[in-house]
Amino acid sequence: MANCIFCKIANGLVPAVKLYEDEHFFIITDIAPKAALHYLAIPKRHYAGLSDMQIADADILGHIFSTIGTLQNHLKLQNGYRLIINQGGDGGQAVFHLHIHILAGQKLDFPHF
Ligand code: AMP
Ligand code: ZN
Repeated sequence: MANCIFCKIANGLVPAVKLYEDEHFFIITDIAPKAALHYLAIPKRHYAGLSDMQIADADILGHIFSTIGTLQNHLKLQNGYRLIINQGGDGGQAVFHLHIHILAGQKLDFPHF
């Protein structure tokens, strides 16, 4: 998608430090962190949001979730973490390229952000 910031990062058109990358997705640090550690896991393929995915696309989510589980040391997630997907306006979604927030590094005692 031409005007999508996460597609531009995926394609190297906008620079970002990729803490993890494979053929399906990458992880960057959120530019405006809402917790002591705040990462974004971003599929390389453009999905506007969770509701834009088909059943056949579910494998990518399984891959992302299971890979995050293997990155606990690398991302300093050993004490736990929270995954969040904001879907649509009421969900607080601002960037319409599917992404999974990874919040960690502190006790997450707030219900949402
Ligand atoms: P959401 O509200 O779920 O759409 O979250 C979008 C997130 O993307 C916000 O937490 C922003 O701080 C973050 N964000 C927007 N642009 C960038 C960027 N260029 N690099 C890193 N994070 C970004
Ligand atoms: Zn995109």
